[in-house]
Amino acid sequence: MQYLSTRGGIQPIPFTKAVMMGLAEDGGLLLPRTIPRIDSHTLTAWKELSYPELAFEVMSRFIDDIPVSDLKTLINRSYAGFDHEEVTPLVHCGNLHILELFHGPTLAFKDIALQFLGNLFEYLLTRSGEVLNILGATSGDTGSAAIYGVRGKERIRIFILHPYKRVSPVQEKQMTSIMDDNVYNIAIHGSFDDGQAIVKKIFSDVEFKNSLSLGAINSINWARVLAQVVYYVHSCLHVSRHENDSSLAFSVPTGNFGDIFAGYIAKRMLPEGCIRRLILATNANDILARFVNRGDYSLGEVVQTTSPSMDIQAASNFERYLFYLVDREPERVKALMAEFAETGRIDLSAHLDQIRKDFAASAVPEEEVAATITAIYNEYDYILDPHTAVGVKAALDHQKPGIPLVCLATAHPAKFGEAVEKAIGRPPTFPESLTGILERETRCEIMDADVDKIREYLRKNALKR
Ligand SMILES: *Cc1c(COP(=O)(O)O)cnc(C)c1O
Repeated sequence: MQYLSTRGGIQPIPFTKAVMMGLAEDGGLLLPRTIPRIDSHTLTAWKELSYPELAFEVMSRFIDDIPVSDLKTLINRSYAGFDHEEVTPLVHCGNLHILELFHGPTLAFKDIALQFLGNLFEYLLTRSGEVLNILGATSGDTGSAAIYGVRGKERIRIFILHPYKRVSPVQEKQMTSIMDDNVYNIAIHGSFDDGQAIVKKIFSDVEFKNSLSLGAINSINWARVLAQVVYYVHSCLHVSRHENDSSLAFSVPTGNFGDIFAGYIAKRMLPEGCIRRLILATNANDILARFVNRGDYSLGEVVQTTSPSMDIQAASNFERYLFYLVDREPERVKALMAEFAETGRIDLSAHLDQIRKDFAASAVPEEEVAATITAIYNEYDYILDPHTAVGVKAALDHQKPGIPLVCLATAHPAKFGEAVEKAIGRPPTFPESLTGILERETRCEIMDADVDKIREYLRKNALKR
């Protein structure tokens, strides 16, 4: 499989090059040249596969430059550390199927992609003899999941920017208490978007990026999207095991559009109708809900909510969907992204018919997030984290008779204990891996959101070839 940029400015490259490139060198995002199709015969044959076996089947359709046995080993190692044998189990609350994606080491769905990406990087670097300095911005969960993905790995250093005091205390400790020598935490005075803008700027300077062997780990990396496609397919196989109708709707708590974009890829891979609807759920930061409902993709102010991993306006994976929306024409993507960079808005209302075929959307206000946590707890004795609650509320908004709903549970409730306790009157049970975390020793650099200063810091601390 060859990969292309949404902006058309690079020669086609194979999977492993796309992984190491992260953001395309022309400033666009990398996508496979085609989306492979899975017919219903093949899908049925996958029913009895374990999660890692299924992951291999799905991913290998996008990867042809890693030997089969190596890819299998990488996948097996990535999911061996999960604390549930199904990796992404489904639990049932009445008509809702909750897809628990938080059984990895940092208790958020990002582990599913980043455990794999960490192993993949190590493998590719060993093969090539190179080094890698990972640079990423996080609104909370990516940072810790990325750090856990590469901590202690040779040939890799990781630099993670997070918005100072704007992540939950547990999230902050999960990142800053990791003492491996190859881990560098930087707290910036600013928002997640500021951090993301700095990272994008640094990556757009190709010479600098190459001289320091910088690579991305944010959801712009194609390997992350790919790893997330797997659990959509997994759910299709497992929910339909229990019900006659094999057509599903998914509700996805959305920030950077990475997770739901994986759902979009899964939808196009699978036989027609397997994934009937993708429900895009945002918190009060509603740019993507406005996009789906009105074609209005325009920046608002970032507001802080109880679901901080979704406190995002400019969604870094949006351009991938835009590429398909404008019939895969790089010139149109370029023009639209330039307009967005200049004015902070693009009007896509002319495409509303197509957008509505692909997605439904709701923006969920704060009070409804808490009310949803309370209601699900009272009715089913099940505790949602605030991100998951956003998705559950949106799912209920768009429920259709006869179509089973799968709600992606993106974080364990203990990661956001304060908001949960407010909603249900008691703190969620702390899983063993978080015991004592708030008392752990930490290490973190606090800096201004200044691209030059961050660049200087990288120059000083990056691993040299
Ligand atoms: C990152 C994250 C999201 C949003 O996922 P995107 O891929 O950025 O849309 C939702 N919930 C949690 C808990 C997250 O960590």
